[in-house]
Amino acid sequence: MKALAILGSTGSVGQQALSVVAANPERFRVTALAAGHNVAVLAEQVKRFEPELVSLADQADARALRKRVGDAVEIRFGSDGLLAVAAHHAELVVAALVGAVGLAPTLAAIRAGRDIALANKEVMVMAGALVRREAEAHGVTLLPVDSEHSAIFQALAGHRHEDVSRLILTCSGGPFREWSTERIAQASVEQALDHPKWKMGAKITVDSATLMNKGLEVIEARWLFDVPADRIDVVVHPQSIVHSLVEYRDSSVLAQLGLPDMRVPIAVALAHPERIALDVPRLDLTRVKQLDFYEPDHARFPCLALAAQALRGGEEAAAVLNAANEVAVAAFLERLIPFGAIADTNAAVLESHLALRRGAVVNELADVLAADVWARDCARKQLALGVDPRSDIMPSGREEDR
Ligand code: MG
Repeated sequence: MKALAILGSTGSVGQQALSVVAANPERFRVTALAAGHNVAVLAEQVKRFEPELVSLADQADARALRKRVGDAVEIRFGSDGLLAVAAHHAELVVAALVGAVGLAPTLAAIRAGRDIALANKEVMVMAGALVRREAEAHGVTLLPVDSEHSAIFQALAGHRHEDVSRLILTCSGGPFREWSTERIAQASVEQALDHPKWKMGAKITVDSATLMNKGLEVIEARWLFDVPADRIDVVVHPQSIVHSLVEYRDSSVLAQLGLPDMRVPIAVALAHPERIALDVPRLDLTRVKQLDFYEPDHARFPCLALAAQALRGGEEAAAVLNAANEVAVAAFLERLIPFGAIADTNAAVLESHLALRRGAVVNELADVLAADVWARDCARKQLALGVDPRSDIMPSGREEDR
């Protein structure tokens, strides 16, 4: 039995990970779960999976959960609660939080020696060099859950790192693949959330519409696989059947294919190094018939090039780009800014950072968090938004604390 802890259990990846666990009760057991404010779903998960420890965003959530589940489980909240779940006994921690909030708990899990199933790509984007160093120092395996990185991970298996010549990330192109620049700039929240191929959370779906997601994935790949950015390509592939590819120095290209379903990369990570049976639709190439590939259009989707620029700009720059994007996407989802302002904000904040601190190196978590705070502030000024109440330090403690 593999013991699992899940950070972000009520989110899209967290719920799908638990569906894989539920289908394989003889293989996995759940020891700890962390969620945000979704008390109702977490209560169901507590009853179904019987973890020893759970955590929620704040004390009110923790009390509401206690009323629903009784005394069966230890309940904590806030950033301390997240860290407790991250370091709770488990063989594998599923890092499925969204955004910067996942960085500290994922590092805590690595320092506790847990292998990581990594869905929270911002962890590698913000602090890829640091996370790599810590994982190596603690003998921890990083198992990608992002579908593209899972594909590359699978295509790399059994091969030598020095034989790899290129990584090729595929990209569905998002809902605005064929839209004009003018139309993209005014896209609505509903249009941005209507992803043609993948069912995912709101933030990543908006990132897929700007192609910032693919930019973040290039940064993620650079650090996960230790391949320099100039050897990572992006190709638009609207069918989302080829999930990504690795080219070797003899010109052979290995790909991983399948119908788009996040349960597959989740199962690959959870079961590693084994494979488990999965009740999902099977790929029939005779029905797909055609696979198309295009070069991405950088003029209509400038966020992709921003990622490359950030990778050239030093270790802090990617954290800055990520933070600006989180602020801009949140403001767009709250209908405070137009879609086109997301890319403009990301570009402006990155440019300000590079003018001030190009080439800065990240030595510890505090450096990343300082860059993150600076960039959020800069993005909010850029967008003429007020001070973010959520930037306050999260309250922490146990639900029982008064
Ligand atoms: Mg992906």
